[in-house]
Amino acid sequence: MTNYENYLNITAKAVSQNEQYLRSAIASFCVELEPTVEEINDIKTAVSEAVTNCIVHGYESKGEGEIFASVGLKDKEIEISIVDNGVGITDIDQAKKPFYTTKEHEERAGMGFCVMEALMDEVVVTHNEDGGITVFMKKIIK
Ligand code: ATP
Ligand code: MG
Repeated sequence: MTNYENYLNITAKAVSQNEQYLRSAIASFCVELEPTVEEINDIKTAVSEAVTNCIVHGYESKGEGEIFASVGLKDKEIEISIVDNGVGITDIDQAKKPFYTTKEHEERAGMGFCVMEALMDEVVVTHNEDGGITVFMKKIIK
């Protein structure tokens, strides 16, 4: 993180109460780059989707486990990572497809990754060595 002009790391328990906090904290931190209201809303929504996925899929809503959220600022670029050490995803390409969900009975739309991709300039999902996934997202402030 040290090559960023500014950065923030937050570790939070993977419970739904922390979803709103994490999205607000990360969005507030980005204000330094003078984003538009629309850009801030894009960041909030994308973070919210990634964090919700950690809670409901990664840790299967057990209220256990941790979410590692980080945001780094560099010139006009915002880089955000949302990391969990939960169950992970077997086929990441399949998981990113529109309407793909493993929880249709819970009325999930399977649109979370598509929303992140639509609102951010880059979304990269990778497996972690110690389990779970990392969602890396980049937004360039115009
Ligand atoms: P929606 O986001 O529209 O409520 P969804 O969460 O099922 O529905 P996506 O966010 O696109 O849709 O995720 C697609 C699928 O990828 C999920 O159904 C789940 O199987 C898997 N997934 C996503 N994030 C994680 C995660 N952090 N850990 C484990 N599996 C995940
Ligand atoms: Mg989702």
